[in-house]
Parts: sequence; structure tokens; C-alpha cells
Amino acid sequence: MLKTIEPASLQLRDGIPYSAAYGDVYHSADGGTGQARHVFLQGCGLPDAWAGRPHFAILETGFGTGLNFLVTWAAWRADPARGARLHFCSVEKHPFRAEDLARLHAQWPAFAGLSAELAAHWPPAVPGFHRLALDGGRVLLTLMFGEAADCLPQLDARIDAFYLDGFAPDRNADLWQPALFAELARLARPGAAAATYTVAGPVRQGLAEAGFVCDKRAGYGRKRHCLVARFRGEREAGRCPPQRVAVVGAGVAGAAVAHALAQRGTEAVVLERTGAPAQGASGNPAAVFRPVISRDDNRATRLTRAAFLHDLRAWRALDGLDWATCGVLHLAKDAEAEARYRVALDAAAPPPDYARWVERDEASALANWPVTAAGVFYPQAGWVVPQSLCAAWLAQGGIALKLNASVARLEAGPAGWRVFDATGAVLADADAVVLANARDVQTLLPDGGWPIHDVRGQITRLPAGSLPWLERVIAREGYCAPGDRPLVGATYEHDDLDLAPRAASDAANLARLESILPGAATGFDPATLDGRAALRATLPDRLPLLGAVDGHAALYVAAGYASRGVVWAGLLGEALADRLCGEPLPLEADLLAAVSPGRFARPLRGR
Ligand SMILES: Cc1cc2nc3c(=O)[nH]c(=O)nc-3n(C[C@H](O)[C@H](O)[C@H](O)COP(=O)(O)OP(=O)(O)OC[C@H]3O[C@@H](n4cnc5c(N)ncnc54)[C@H](O)[C@@H]3O)c2cc1C
Repeated sequence: MLKTIEPASLQLRDGIPYSAAYGDVYHSADGGTGQARHVFLQGCGLPDAWAGRPHFAILETGFGTGLNFLVTWAAWRADPARGARLHFCSVEKHPFRAEDLARLHAQWPAFAGLSAELAAHWPPAVPGFHRLALDGGRVLLTLMFGEAADCLPQLDARIDAFYLDGFAPDRNADLWQPALFAELARLARPGAAAATYTVAGPVRQGLAEAGFVCDKRAGYGRKRHCLVARFRGEREAGRCPPQRVAVVGAGVAGAAVAHALAQRGTEAVVLERTGAPAQGASGNPAAVFRPVISRDDNRATRLTRAAFLHDLRAWRALDGLDWATCGVLHLAKDAEAEARYRVALDAAAPPPDYARWVERDEASALANWPVTAAGVFYPQAGWVVPQSLCAAWLAQGGIALKLNASVARLEAGPAGWRVFDATGAVLADADAVVLANARDVQTLLPDGGWPIHDVRGQITRLPAGSLPWLERVIAREGYCAPGDRPLVGATYEHDDLDLAPRAASDAANLARLESILPGAATGFDPATLDGRAALRATLPDRLPLLGAVDGHAALYVAAGYASRGVVWAGLLGEALADRLCGEPLPLEADLLAAVSPGRFARPLRGR
């Protein structure tokens, strides 16, 4: 996988967007919109092919100017026979910057509204999958920034139509390789359509060898021919999503899954043992949301990056969310850490509005306080109140929240699951169950085999009006977040289940504050501090458990969110809902494998 993404540079040749790097134009000189309609939509039998389908998935090679997407989105909106959701997955090695995309789109005023919505969600040029929920969540665009040869094997989807765009085979031979056609065959539903503007021999041969039956048809504009193809097999309708899912736990994990399911038309019954949502780890007064960087761009870094960027896009649509993108400044704890961060930042070379290096003077200016270290500044990161996040997610229509409903037992039946409390009363009947009850997943499923470890964490709220100059989150070995009652966190106390706040933990947090902002922690009367303790459910690899539980049909888990659950929950909720509903997944297959609930059993089986 690429570790950095080089954006496309916008150039025009005779008024047509042109790539000097590939020596090719982005669309026909006879008109981009006409070409998109003729070659790709008509070539794939659209809009007829999506009529009556609950969801329809298109895969495109080469997002380019995004014109094929805009034309498809507009056609989908205009079609009364469309299904509930359109998935559009598109791979792009050199995405345009948002401002260049906006300039390009200005020439197609008919799509101005759609283009503006796309621009508002457009991700920065960083590698990986980016899921954009557009049109109120009815159009899900999964942008895969990277090489097609790396990204396509990572896509977990069943595709109904392929738009084979991208620069011509003689200009971009790397794309049109046998491996591409093999991937199309892996992803294709039986009877899937494919369309492309080129009739080059190797393309026809590659498609034919992969199981597509090709046909030439009249080309667009000056082109004599273009190509349509159909994958072997009869077209199938696709799986129906479950009608009703019981979700155990109303913290961020459960609320996010319920929200994503309800958005897909599945009724979610959320069962929470306490009298209100977000009373466990998700009940902290504020949580920091931010990405991380690492030299090897490891899986935790990639998951956190994708989730953080997803939060930035998705949270804007939530009513009543209490959050701020005030920026997070992460100071190096010592010279060794500073060297490590510098190397990682050099390797990732992210856009500066995602992460940038700041020397000590600038760090002091950002902190409004003299600090003793340089560090990394994440301008769009910040804090969020997790209870407001849970409330916003649970407010989605189609969610039934049952409080004081403590799940004690699950029973599988021929038509799904029956969920009971300790008295034997039935709490819910459902087609599927999602266990989103943090460490307590082990109580309900003792044979899960998950080595969940409890890590107690206490945060400390300072008296009202403290640190009035603090405007951003400042982190070092811990963090402090601004607010009427600034928050300092957090302790890590292993295998300690005591939830009563402790003066010793508050004192440890004050020591953290002192290390972050020297001199700022003095003079606090311990009696004015307000501590809150909760448990982090943590796996040895610090990654969550997400997916189907092996050996139990229609049973899923979303737990073990450790120290980053507030950042991760939204994207993981989307991923699990897509898994349940049989829709394209928003995360790379290797990340899904890395969080799979079966991963701890595998080495044993291999022996
Ligand atoms: C001190 C501290 C600081 C943190 N700071 C951050 C941060 O800055 N940023 C960040 O991203 N993350 C942070 N985290 C991590 C984050 O808070 C957690 O990962 C996240 O809240 C976990 O959410 P959850 O829904 O899995 O668990 P919880 O919020 O604990 O929710 C689980 C729910 O399941 C319910 N439940 C349990 N058993 C049953 C049952 N049998 N029947 C019905 N309901 C049941 C519980 O009552 C609870 O409501 C922090 C955690 C701690 C402890």
C-alpha cells in the first residue's frame, strides 16, 4: 500500500482536463457528461439495472474528475424506480485537491448542488479507503486512494456494475494488468455488467479470460466503438438485509451500530442494562478525537486515520452533537520521541491541514502557554462529548431503545435469536444479535475466547474557570482538553475494576498536566477536583473486535474499543452494518481481518 498520496495537478488541454503524468485526457473531447452517460451508464444498462434492487454497487477504476460519479448520482436521484441505496466504489492513485475538483466541476453547472456536497465531504490526500455518506446516507461513495493493484484486493464487496475508466491502456499499462481482471471476477455478482471506452485487444482478452462476455457497441463522439461486457451467470437480486437486530449495550459501540443499521432500513432494538445510554466508558465528560502517525503506517494508525476522517465528515450531519475541532497539539515527551515523530511525519508527508510539525515556539503559541517541547499539530482534531454522540446516533428513526434491560442469555432459534434477562423474560426477538457491551461480551459468550483485559482509567475535571487561556487539546503522556471545566486524563490502571474515583488518580492526572503545561498544575485544591473512572476493554493487540462470531450464525460483536473507541465507533458501526446487510465494506480487507473476532483462535487452530 502507498504510504503517501500525490495529488493530481490540474491542467487543461484545449479546455479538457489533462494529465501530463499520463499524457492523456480525463474525458472525451466530445463532452464528458455525454461520454459518461453513453459509455458507462448505458453500457451497464443503467438506470434499468438498479430498478427494484434494495442496493446497487458500482466499482470504477479511476475517479479522476468525478464526472462519472456525478452523472450516475444525478441519474439515480432522478429515477423513481431506484432502490434504497447506491454504493459507488472508486479507486484513484492521484486524487485532485478539493479546490481543483471544484474548479473542474464549475464547467458542469447542472451538477452544482451535488458537486458542492461532494466537495464538502472530500477527504485529504492520505492513503486508504474513505467512506463518504452523501444524499442523506442514500449514496455511499467509497474512495480508495492508492494503486488499483493494492486497493482492489482489499475491497470486500459484491459489485453489480463496473466502470472501467482510467487512462488508456497504452498510457497506463500498470492499471490494465491480468490481476485487474482477476479482481473484477472476484468482486462481480453473477450477471454483473462492465463498460469501458476502450476496445483495446488486451482489455477484451483480459475480460474474456476472467469470465466476461464482451460486445463492441457504437462509441461516443469520434470513437467508433466502446465495449460492454457481462459476467457469467444469471443476475441475482442480492441479499435482503435483516429486518430486526438486537444490539446489546448503548455506549458508543452499540449506538453507532444501531444508527448505521437503522439508516439501512433495519430496525435496531438497543438493550441497555442501566437507566440511560453512555453510562460506561462512553460516559466520560469529553473524549479526544484525533489521528495518530507512525513510521510504518501500521494497522492501528490506518484504522484510526480512516475513522477520524470519517468522524469529521459524518458528525457534521448529527443534530445536537457537542464537539469542537479546536486542534490537538501532541508534544514529544523527550528527544527520542521527537526524532520518532519527525521520521514518521516525513514518511507520511500528510497535507498540513491533516498533520504538521511545529517547533517549540509555535507549539507555545498554539498552547497559549510556554511549553518545553516541539510536536505534531492536528488542526482538525478536537474533543467531543460522547454522551451527545450516543444521543445523536440513537435519535435516528428505526431505533427502539430499551433501558434497564440487562441481557443475561441468548438463545438461537430457527428464525434468529431470542434474548432474555436474568428472570427469563424475553427482551427481544431478532434476526441477528450484536454484542456491543464492552468487557461483558465475555459473560454472554464465555466460549468467545477473547483475551479481554480491563484497564481502569480516571479523568479529572478541574474547577470551573480554570486555565481560561486553554483553547486546544494539548497532549503529551496524557492530555488536557479545554472547556468550562478543563479535563485532564487519563490514568492506566491494569486489572483494577474499582470505579470509585480516587484522589491518587487525580494527583496522577495533575502530574500529567504539569508535564504537558509546566506550571499550570499548581495551586489546585484536591477537594475541587472531580474524577470519573471507567474501564477500557482492551485486547492484547490494542485493536477492537468487530464482525461475525465464529460458530454462531447471525451473532456479531463490536467490543474491545480500548482507548480509541470514541474515534473508532462511527466507522466500525458502518462496517458492521454493511457486513450484516451484505453491502460493500468501508474498510480494507486486511483491517477487517485485523479486527476480526476470530483472530485469537487462529494460531490454536493452526497448530
Ligand atoms: C478514562 C478514559 C478515557 C478515554 N479517553 C478516550 C478518548 O479521549 N478518545 C477516545 O476515542 N476514546 C477514549 N476512551 C475509550 C472510550 O471511552 C471507549 O473505547 C468507549 O467508550 C467504549 O465504548 P463501548 O460502547 O464499547 O463501551 P461502554 O461505553 O462501556 O458501553 C457498554 C455498554 O454496555 C452495557 N452493558 C453491559 N452489559 C450489558 C448487558 N448484559 N445487557 C445490557 N447492557 C449491557 C453497559 O451498561 C454499557 O452502557 C477512554 C476511556 C477511558 C476509560
